[in-house]
Amino acid sequence: MTQISRHIHINGIVQGVGFRPFIYNLALAHQLNGWVRNSASGVDIEVTGEKADLDAFQSDIPRSAPPLAQIDSIEVEDIRPKTFETFKIIPSKDKSTDFIPVSPDVAICHDCQRELFDPQDRRYRYPFINCTNCGPRFTIIRDIPYDRPKTTMARFEMCQDCREEYENPRDRRFHAQPVACPVCGPQVWLELIPGIYHTEKDDAIKQARELLAKGKILAVKGLGGFHLVCDATNPQAIAQLRERKQRPHKPFALMAFDIDTIKKYAEVSPTAEELLRSPQAPIILMPKKPGTYIAEAVAPGQANLGFMLPYTPLHLLLLEKETGYPEVLVMTSGNLAEEPILRENDAARDKLSEIADVFLMHNRPIHRRIDDSVLTIMDDQPYLIRRARGYAPNPIRLKEPLPQVLAAGPQMKNTFCLTRDRYAFLSHYIGEMENWETYQDYQRAIHHYESLFRIQPKAIGYDLHPDYLSTKYALQRAEAEGLPAFAIQHHHAHLAAGMMEHGIAPGEQTAGLIFDGTGYGSDGTFWGGEVLIGNCENFQRLYYLKPVPLPGGEAAIRTPARMALSTLWAYGLPWGESLAPVNALSAKERSALRVQLEKGINSPLTSSMGRLFDAVSALIGVRERVTYEAQAAVELEALADEDELGYYPWRMDGNQIDVKPLLEGILTDLSEGRSRSIISGRFHNTIVGLCLELARRIKRKFEIHHLVLSGGVWQNQLLLEKTIDILNQNGYHPLIHRQMPPNDGCVAFGQAMITAYRYMKDKE
Ligand SMILES: [Zn+2]
Ligand SMILES: [Zn+2]
Ligand SMILES: [Zn+2]
Repeated sequence: MTQISRHIHINGIVQGVGFRPFIYNLALAHQLNGWVRNSASGVDIEVTGEKADLDAFQSDIPRSAPPLAQIDSIEVEDIRPKTFETFKIIPSKDKSTDFIPVSPDVAICHDCQRELFDPQDRRYRYPFINCTNCGPRFTIIRDIPYDRPKTTMARFEMCQDCREEYENPRDRRFHAQPVACPVCGPQVWLELIPGIYHTEKDDAIKQARELLAKGKILAVKGLGGFHLVCDATNPQAIAQLRERKQRPHKPFALMAFDIDTIKKYAEVSPTAEELLRSPQAPIILMPKKPGTYIAEAVAPGQANLGFMLPYTPLHLLLLEKETGYPEVLVMTSGNLAEEPILRENDAARDKLSEIADVFLMHNRPIHRRIDDSVLTIMDDQPYLIRRARGYAPNPIRLKEPLPQVLAAGPQMKNTFCLTRDRYAFLSHYIGEMENWETYQDYQRAIHHYESLFRIQPKAIGYDLHPDYLSTKYALQRAEAEGLPAFAIQHHHAHLAAGMMEHGIAPGEQTAGLIFDGTGYGSDGTFWGGEVLIGNCENFQRLYYLKPVPLPGGEAAIRTPARMALSTLWAYGLPWGESLAPVNALSAKERSALRVQLEKGINSPLTSSMGRLFDAVSALIGVRERVTYEAQAAVELEALADEDELGYYPWRMDGNQIDVKPLLEGILTDLSEGRSRSIISGRFHNTIVGLCLELARRIKRKFEIHHLVLSGGVWQNQLLLEKTIDILNQNGYHPLIHRQMPPNDGCVAFGQAMITAYRYMKDKE
């Protein structure tokens, strides 16, 4: 039989996921000789064998690839026949302009979990056990190709046993870059006083557990940064954590050893269970069960609890089931308010010593910090709230190749986005760009992505808001590098993100119900309750909520009572003495507010839907002052009567949505003593009905059925579910975000799409 040879190039996430040993074993199974190697743009293979064997080998590649691999393309070329003695894995080739996507970090796999608790295993109770299918990736990579010297594991020299596993293509740790064992790898230790070593290894973990059981607060170094940890069933510990972290109400994330434990405290749907167990291991928001031991202070005023499973061996050891130890732990980001999660030992000692009683440290450096991802379930599918660990830096796949551009992103919930070929690298969650630390981290992260993925932006997109730090960064860079820069309206970016995520053609007119907090509008006012129609080039503002003053700007956002009174004032409605927002402010505050409104002092106008939710929440006495973003709206949703069928009227005034009849309806219900649950239910129904009417108008005018639902307000699950139902029932196609959050976490992606298409158009 004649032997033929082929060269095969595979693109996608094929490094650090056990791809080469998979190819090696597959080639042996098909009696092929040749080689496989990592290249900077994927994996290259050359094989020689009989045609039938080569064909079978090729078709087996996508069919039986390792679980973490993501193949984007396979290119095959017949080459002149070559003779090979065996099949080999050969060293990587690096071409500096090529790139491959990098795998996100992966939760500990079943095999490693089994070994972790097997007394016969040489890694028994070793908190850094990992293999080709699990463990740290993105957080330890300094550069590509993904090889040990280019990770933070470079400093740990492998022992003989580890090296044998690492070099054996038949071993499940073959070329697992973070491979380590108790002899050669990283270790944990405990510090009762920051900087002073107390005890190490298993003793450190055992003592940490005892301290947690006693109600102490621990700073625990994890995968992407530090967590602050305490017993979730201990109200004193939680009260102390809240006080020290100056975080009075914002919910804390929880971690339990297994699904059965989580089910004691939350309603876990089959989809939620699957996602909890997934390699991404995110935090899932699930309805909380009444009357459990979880302290109410974990998530005050919330209908949901956010749970995750242990995703590192260290977490498993901390939560191992044993009587006398907490079975659920609070695991909240180890940072000071709004600053990035801490990743370095010294910085953590310095900044967290006022909050944590004890430090559980380790010596595996974290190169790139990353927060835990958060999602809910919508229609049995994941719906992202925060996209970070496990998801980033996986790119969003595009329908057509785009030029290399950078989108600087918004101010709050910042992410940035870089494009290249058919990929959009939407960054992990960076956070609120309000302080120096976050801004520094942001710049470093952009630099890291650009070097990892070999991207040199040809154009930059940024938010229209002149004062955003991301805007400043974009303009400075554009000037320094002589790049074209495009200012992009915030809600236009939301619309573009929604349409491009769903593969709609960039030039196709699409409508969007963009219900958001506030974003800088093209007319200099603050938008946020917008019905837009447009594409990746431009847009028009079809309808919007009638603007009302935002008295004191930020002050109105922090104090929904001010927003409620401002809204009543704008619609010419009285501040009745019995109203909650009236009583929440002193007589002095109220008269100052009235003067401010009447004279228009520091009271920019806003059409924000988020602020309308705030106003209603305060108006009916749910929440008059907030301590975290969207608190008033979240609590309003949590107490809504979902079975309520009533709603309030509203009217269109030209292009403006006039909610005076709605406010009057609420005031009447309040005066008649209707419950807050019913009023909240009716308010939600009103907005749902409004969406249907807007959809009808858009269809009549433009024959458009697709409606993007984007903006932070769409985190409201009750509103989203009811809106999707009613739109579907009436023949419309709502498009909701699936690969990125509906909040400002999607804005950079939309900016990147608009930037790329405007840049291409300008070049024509
Ligand atoms: Zn593993
Ligand atoms: Zn070792
Ligand atoms: Zn927004």
